[in-house]
Amino acid sequence: MAAVALAVALVFVFEATGADILPGGRSADPAAEQTSADQLIEPPAPEASEAPPEPVVEDWTIPERYSGQVIRRRLRTFEPKLLALTFDDGPDPKVTPRILESLRKHNARATFFVLGSRAARHPELMKEIADQGHAIGSHTATHLKKPSAARAVKELDWTESVIAETTGRRTSIFRPPYGILNNQTTAEAIRRGMAVFLWTISSADTKKIGAEAIASNVINTPNPGDIVLMHDGSGHGDTAVAVEKILSKLSTSGYTFVTLPELLSAWDEKKRVDEAAAEAARLTP
Ligand SMILES: [Zn+2]
Repeated sequence: MAAVALAVALVFVFEATGADILPGGRSADPAAEQTSADQLIEPPAPEASEAPPEPVVEDWTIPERYSGQVIRRRLRTFEPKLLALTFDDGPDPKVTPRILESLRKHNARATFFVLGSRAARHPELMKEIADQGHAIGSHTATHLKKPSAARAVKELDWTESVIAETTGRRTSIFRPPYGILNNQTTAEAIRRGMAVFLWTISSADTKKIGAEAIASNVINTPNPGDIVLMHDGSGHGDTAVAVEKILSKLSTSGYTFVTLPELLSAWDEKKRVDEAAAEAARLTP
């Protein structure tokens, strides 16, 4: 257990964007966000549709101040014990339903950064995720590291349309594959005004360390407002086991599990209060 805690505390090399040390000495780690692109199929060209698109009944709104921003740190002075679990690279028919079941059991909400190529194959899972009150974000269609500008536009267009078609909702949140910020997909997401999320805690669940270690990486480190990186792509059965442990343990320590749009709204509210207090102090002679 001590070795695990030590491993989590190690500062990772930030290959694409330079070292980005987080409060508490932790670091966003792009290597923690791994999926081999060769597992993924090319997206088919979106079909031209005769019918008008389904009306968007509800969206996952983000506060204006976070539009087009990169979020890689938690709010330092944030107090409510909110935690945002996030799952990348799904949906997967074996892993995602198990995670949804644990979330339902613990009355928890989370965020799923889906791959458009996989979402298109599992519309029933997309609908279930959305209907259960979770947020869905874009993780591109095929998880490319360095697509061309034209391909980046297609990757985002296609994923957004798959999300809209399967859930009836529009998303404005994005997580870059491998956590890479300096590429065309992230630039395009920012151009679109999406909120671009890295994470503040990595479960290290791509390292084949087992459910116990994945769970303890999360259970031993959270602060209110943290964003936890996990994966519900193919082969992440250990993550599903770990999620149940994480929810059991942290629920009893008073954490509430929210979506990223909900977390941003709570951050926004806290900032409004702080700004109003600062303004009042400025006006006081
Ligand atoms: Zn990924």
